[in-house]
Amino acid sequence: ARGASLTDFADKVGVDAAQLVQMLFHLGEMVTATESVNEAVLDLLGEELNYVVQVVSPEDEDRELLSSFDLEFGEDEGDDSDLSVRPPVVTVMGHVDHGKTRLLDALRSANVGDKEAGGITQHIGAYQVTTDVDGTDRRITFIDTPGHEAFTSMRARGAQATDIAILVVAADDGVMPQTVEALNHAKAAGVPIVVAVNKIDKESADPTKVRGQLSEYGLVPEEYGGDAMFVDVSAKSELNLDKLLEAVVLTADASLDLRANSEQDAQGLVIEAHLDRGRGPVATVLVQRGTLRVGDSIVAGPAYGRVRAMLDEHGENITEADPSRPAMVLGLTATPGAGQTFLVVDDDRMARQIAEKREARERAAMQAKRRVRRTLEDFMAS
Ligand code: GDP
Ligand code: MG
Repeated sequence: ARGASLTDFADKVGVDAAQLVQMLFHLGEMVTATESVNEAVLDLLGEELNYVVQVVSPEDEDRELLSSFDLEFGEDEGDDSDLSVRPPVVTVMGHVDHGKTRLLDALRSANVGDKEAGGITQHIGAYQVTTDVDGTDRRITFIDTPGHEAFTSMRARGAQATDIAILVVAADDGVMPQTVEALNHAKAAGVPIVVAVNKIDKESADPTKVRGQLSEYGLVPEEYGGDAMFVDVSAKSELNLDKLLEAVVLTADASLDLRANSEQDAQGLVIEAHLDRGRGPVATVLVQRGTLRVGDSIVAGPAYGRVRAMLDEHGENITEADPSRPAMVLGLTATPGAGQTFLVVDDDRMARQIAEKREARERAAMQAKRRVRRTLEDFMAS
């Protein structure tokens, strides 16, 4: 809690910082909401609010929990010889209505081709496509959930799902506030950006202007001597989609060293999860390392279970999923939250024990928060 302010504390507990300031004032402490408060003040608050001020972060606590089972999320993957190239994981970002959804759909259907014509398309929150680059088939994983939210909520949890961001800018509209916001998010995360200048089928399209505008934000096109790849596309006319995919692969090759150990027990992130009437909890996960297999015991946030079946983006059964592959997992006891981690563990017993500990912790934190809110309300009312 070192350096924590009342605002931080209020956010954690879900109360109004101004009320905390007021409460402390009544207790004889003059503190502003944003200044960092010392432990004595936190203790005083804790005492008054009947709340044990947590000094350990939930992340540290979870790390400790896993380590007590001899597990670690993001453990060392071994030597060079243990690693193999994995596909880049891409999110699509940009201003509203600039064509993110349509582009994701176009990339998906262009790749699937006729195979799914008339068939059932599964929206599992992520999919993989294959593209030919210099005579070699290269895979790319797209996270298909509303790009921005997935990206930010996962980053907030400290989980990095994205390797490359495609920044979609409509060529008729140009750079808009959310374009800049997306750009800043990607930069802050150190994620390379490929620009898709979209809607070039439109009469009013001005792709040159987009290049000039983004240059002013430090995203300079290669053809102007910078290091960002810009590709003019039309999601509507399915124009230059292959060029966009190639740009993603080239950007990955040039600036990232994407490799993973596919031999170890699988670990990764939950992309989305829902309760299916017939199938029970269904979670789309992104395998980040190792290989996930049917029959594996997994723990995903406060959910656990044995992988009963896995489906790919075409709705077809798969028996294993290697690094960067998204898969729909059946067999969990509950629906984990987007951005939570999953790990393969030794057996069902271990999975259940970890999940139960996490659940108990979440429950205790909720109860503590409720208690604080109630005490504060009482204090204000008196
Ligand atoms: P999002 O808010 O970024 O997800 O944008 P959408 O994908 O929903 O697209 C917004 C609108 O722009 C929709 O009416 C799309 O059909 C349209 N649109 C998307 N891409 C193109 C394109 O390449 N050309 C044209 N003419 N319209 C497009
Ligand atoms: Mg959309």
